[in-house]
Amino acid sequence: MTTLLLHHADVLLTMDAARREIADGAVLIRDGVIETVGTTDELAALCAHAGVAPDETIELRGHVLMPGLVNTHHHMYQSLTRAMPAAQDAELFDWLRALYPVWAGLTPEMIHVSTQTAMAELIRSGCTTSSDHLYIYPNGSRLDDSIAAAQEIGMRFTACRGSMSVGQSKGGLPPDEVVEREDAILTDTRRLIETWHDPRRHSMLHVAVAPCSPFSVSRELMRESAELARHYGVRLHTHLAENDKDISYSREVFGMTPAEYAESLGWTGDDVWHAHCVKLDAPGIALFARSGTGVAHCPCSNMRLASGIAPIPQMRAAGVPVGLGVDGSASNDGAHMLGEARQAMLLARVGHGPAALTAREALELATLGGARVLGRDDIGAIAPGMSADCVAFNTGGVSLAGGAVHDPVAALLFCTPPPVSLSVINGRVVVREGQLTTIDLPRVLERHNRFALALAAGHA
Ligand SMILES: [Zn+2]
Repeated sequence: MTTLLLHHADVLLTMDAARREIADGAVLIRDGVIETVGTTDELAALCAHAGVAPDETIELRGHVLMPGLVNTHHHMYQSLTRAMPAAQDAELFDWLRALYPVWAGLTPEMIHVSTQTAMAELIRSGCTTSSDHLYIYPNGSRLDDSIAAAQEIGMRFTACRGSMSVGQSKGGLPPDEVVEREDAILTDTRRLIETWHDPRRHSMLHVAVAPCSPFSVSRELMRESAELARHYGVRLHTHLAENDKDISYSREVFGMTPAEYAESLGWTGDDVWHAHCVKLDAPGIALFARSGTGVAHCPCSNMRLASGIAPIPQMRAAGVPVGLGVDGSASNDGAHMLGEARQAMLLARVGHGPAALTAREALELATLGGARVLGRDDIGAIAPGMSADCVAFNTGGVSLAGGAVHDPVAALLFCTPPPVSLSVINGRVVVREGQLTTIDLPRVLERHNRFALALAAGHA
């Protein structure tokens, strides 16, 4: 039994049912689970009364303490191909065409080191749970390479077994050499779920079934993936309705909108989440709300690729579950989760007016929203019985000066979002005083950048 006390946080943003914000807040964690939440005085009295002396105590004066942020959409291997000149100024389909041949050179080591790099960046930005959508498996790469990286760095993880099966010769977008056979995809997906998926409360690892997109796999694979996921009780994920070309492709090839196509294949329900949905129409929003189908909103990627402004206020009003995703890494090309919440707030205002999304609503999307989209009721809030995923931001730096004194919570988004000073994941201190404790980050980055150059050179 180990206990960790976090106390004297200037503000504890709980995201609990009452959305309490506790001044001089404290949290007692026992064996990876939140036991008690309250003011520092209340917890001190409780500990004294029960004769509990925490194994470790961390003081958080000058900090906002909040639930760890949840990233619902990402492609971590793309950290190796950020800002590549050939793909800097393209929309989605041209961006993909420029990068597919480069990604064909990926190796298992590259997947491993790029996943660690992406996770380090996410963790430093306040993220404690992430999904990753790996849909390209060249040269013996496996989803196991990502899973090993997550376990080493200590991040809570939803590993999505992506896939592509319709190459250019069959009318799809990816080149033939990066697609897989559909029977092999389904066999490997079964193996991964049986080997790795842990459905228990406080699980550190989920596996989801995730064909890449309607324009890179067949109708049959979409349908069989849904059946397979439901057989095992795991979640389904893909890209949907990302931009206007995506909509035209769906109408021309399937004779339906993306939402209608998804519904026709069993790809709606409270066990499904779709990335983007920038072009989800009113009947699509109503369908998603009715069926509990989730959306991973990726504002930076949508701006980067000029995809458009997702109808997030309409989705929220209708009751669609919405979380945030940094997407990328090569279509963002940053993976700052608190920054993504800031961009969600700003982009909603560009599209829908100044009252479209408040700072606290954006933080709710980044915590409780993401938890719901990933099918979890044990993360996203600081409350008794929840997994102990907590992050603290120092509000004393120059970027928050003159802002945090008025409203430290809102200042985290209205001002330049700072890096975390503390990150606790599943009760384990993963960032202490701004430094990752679980991996040797400079060494990882050195290898990562060496691989990035080799990957680009191999293509050239
Ligand atoms: Zn994506």
